[in-house]
Amino acid sequence: MTDFDALDVIVVGGGGAGLAAAVSAAEQGAQVALFESERELGGSTQLSAGMFTAAGTSVQRGLGVEDTAERHFQHYMDLNQWQLKPGLIRAFCAAAGPTLEWLLGLGLDVPAAVSPDAHTPGLCRAGVEDVWRGHVPRDQGYGLVQVLDRARRERGVEVVLGTRVERLLYEEGRVTGVVADGIEVRAGAVVVASGGLARDPGLLDRHYPAARAAGEALFVVAAPGSRGDHIAFAEQTGSALTGHGWGLMLPTAYFQRYHHWQAGFPPKSRVYVNGAGRRFMDEDASYAVSSGIILAQDGPVWAVFDEKARLGLPPGYADWTPDRIAEEARTGRLLSAASPAELAAAMGVPADALTATLARWNARLAATGRDPEFLREESLAAKGSPQPPDPIAAGPFYAARILPAELVCTHTGLEIDQDAAVLDHTGTAVPGLFAAGEAGGGVLGMRYVGGGNAVANALTMGRIAGRGAARGR
Ligand SMILES: Cc1cc2nc3c(=O)[nH]c(=O)nc-3n(C[C@H](O)[C@H](O)[C@H](O)COP(=O)(O)OP(=O)(O)OC[C@H]3O[C@@H](n4cnc5c(N)ncnc54)[C@H](O)[C@@H]3O)c2cc1C
Repeated sequence: MTDFDALDVIVVGGGGAGLAAAVSAAEQGAQVALFESERELGGSTQLSAGMFTAAGTSVQRGLGVEDTAERHFQHYMDLNQWQLKPGLIRAFCAAAGPTLEWLLGLGLDVPAAVSPDAHTPGLCRAGVEDVWRGHVPRDQGYGLVQVLDRARRERGVEVVLGTRVERLLYEEGRVTGVVADGIEVRAGAVVVASGGLARDPGLLDRHYPAARAAGEALFVVAAPGSRGDHIAFAEQTGSALTGHGWGLMLPTAYFQRYHHWQAGFPPKSRVYVNGAGRRFMDEDASYAVSSGIILAQDGPVWAVFDEKARLGLPPGYADWTPDRIAEEARTGRLLSAASPAELAAAMGVPADALTATLARWNARLAATGRDPEFLREESLAAKGSPQPPDPIAAGPFYAARILPAELVCTHTGLEIDQDAAVLDHTGTAVPGLFAAGEAGGGVLGMRYVGGGNAVANALTMGRIAGRGAARGR
């Protein structure tokens, strides 16, 4: 039975970062209590695919993939244009592989098998890395949370559900505990693992205004607890924030309202066309880069496809279905026309350019399986779909506006060092305070380094934070 008067560590938030922190602190012999604002554990981690980016793992070795933490580090820094602290990122990349092994040891199942997507257990292409680093666990984010929940129970970590931490206890320059339900609870150290701020429109305006640019198309898939409570904790303790203006927005159609597991997928046989009426990207490019490419275009971006593609959409999804497309076209919000030239007129793009774009598609990728300009065949092969897509030739033709509008996670967090200790505005560690996951800033950067970036951050830095908190710095 946990004695709440003799706690070593309090963890705020029971998603991936919080559970990893609680388990690792308990492994060091600490008395740990975890407060979770919702009625169940899991947060965004539980909603996620659970994909975990890591290098030099036994799963990679099982598939003959040679990789090192140093290569992971180089890729991570390059993609983020070296705007992150190299010391922190090196520590993260060095610890990500061992953290995955730790999870496997706790019972997580990631088979040494090639996976074509974020749903099939195994190793998949996570982003634009040169070797595959995306580890997809069985039962996805739910599986991750189950494994950690069992581990924390076995180690005697007390969980208090339905209890939102209101503020931290900050006395004589040290964090000494938390206040929840008006009750003060003390501990040697506190780990803030309360997730991101995607659910708070005011905080989004302040810390990730780019998300609001999606206007009415914006929808948030992050867990309900992502209210950004860490921002108030920072103000209260004089802690620094970092990661301002960064987060992950996935490209979606303007009419989509659900993550693709529920929304469904746009047709394979589609081209993304810019204001010049031309293709400008591999339509299956990783979201490590796809949102940035779309935002770099002048004017709106459209997904163009034909009637055969519409009719071929599989049933059972919420958004990308034949009926939903027909309904959107009927309202006029989704453009449709009998010919490419008429569609171009409706889109406001040059008719000759759109006609040439579709002719090139039909003569190249659809006919030969090769896309010399954008190498889409490589993405299709990585997704386990190497067959050439259909031509786009059967009217009516459709154009759906595509934009980054699905908000997954936010990156503004309490600035942490390589031990996950929170820093104040002078760069000095705040005694007794650690942070991890979306609430801990500095690892998630301007570029999302492919699927698995955020779960790896949460679990890896959570585990490090738990160890540090158990030492009671
Ligand atoms: C649909 C979806 C799919 C995703 N897929 C992937 C993926 O495959 N790979 C990947 O890397 N990333 C993915 N992400 C992002 C990733 O899941 C998250 O960034 C990561 O899991 C965040 O972990 P966390 O522990 O920081 O936050 P969370 O898992 O959200 O946990 C934070 C917890 O803190 C609780 N909390 C908040 N405030 C308080 C408070 N004041 N007191 C007590 N408790 C509080 C919340 O209720 C929540 O349970 C996905 C996200 C979503 C939404």
